[in-house]
Amino acid sequence: MVPGARLIVLGKQGAGKGTQCVRLSHHYVVPHVSTGDMLRAAVKQGTAMGLKAKDQMDRGELLGDDLIMGMVASRLDESDVRARGFVLDGCPRTVAQAEQLAVFLNPVELDMAVDIEVPTAQVLRRLAARRVCVDCGANYSVSSPPLINWTCDVCGGEVIQREDDREEAITRRLELYERQTAPLIDWYRARGQLAAVSGTGAPDSVTRRVIKAIEVRRDRKGGRLT
Ligand code: ADP
Repeated sequence: MVPGARLIVLGKQGAGKGTQCVRLSHHYVVPHVSTGDMLRAAVKQGTAMGLKAKDQMDRGELLGDDLIMGMVASRLDESDVRARGFVLDGCPRTVAQAEQLAVFLNPVELDMAVDIEVPTAQVLRRLAARRVCVDCGANYSVSSPPLINWTCDVCGGEVIQREDDREEAITRRLELYERQTAPLIDWYRARGQLAAVSGTGAPDSVTRRVIKAIEVRRDRKGGRLT
């Protein structure tokens, strides 16, 4: 049987976290837990949390640690996650979130935090060109659009530019990344849980690098990821 995994994926906006997390979740057969996707679903459903979150998300601001950690904790408590593990995408994003997550996971250890590294100039180009399906979240770009008229190839949904992929919000998100999220790289490194992987080049090459880094660590630990 494929061993499960407990992974956190870090990286700047536009580093390809979402794409790599989907692939990792298929590879290790574990749920992909994405705070951004959960929040966007709440916005679409018009829940109380969604209504509260929308404006801040559109502006590229971070939501409160308590709201995020409450949402993540209840997802991590579900049976699929407890049985197989998770690929966590978009959380933690502050040191306070990482501390709460470590307490929540205790005594079970995280396998690893993977940092996908891409230079800022490159993520800026990727984000400005990114287009997404409003229904299923599939990613496109202005240089590789859907086959027919901004209609999603996967589900037929409308393909648009995310509100927070506009210039002002992008600048704000990257500023917050440097201030709040980049310190997590040292936080995980200090705990011996970090693997930094280059996120440049084709998505397949990045996936191979990430899986290799995970396997190397698994071998060192002398066992399965779970
Ligand atoms: P990105 O990483 O590209 O900014 P996400 O899709 O992960 O986008 O998240 C979208 C938005 O959701 C963030 O800009 C923020 O407003 C909110 N959000 C998601 N995860 C968190 C988190 N862990 N802490 C605070 N806010 C979050």
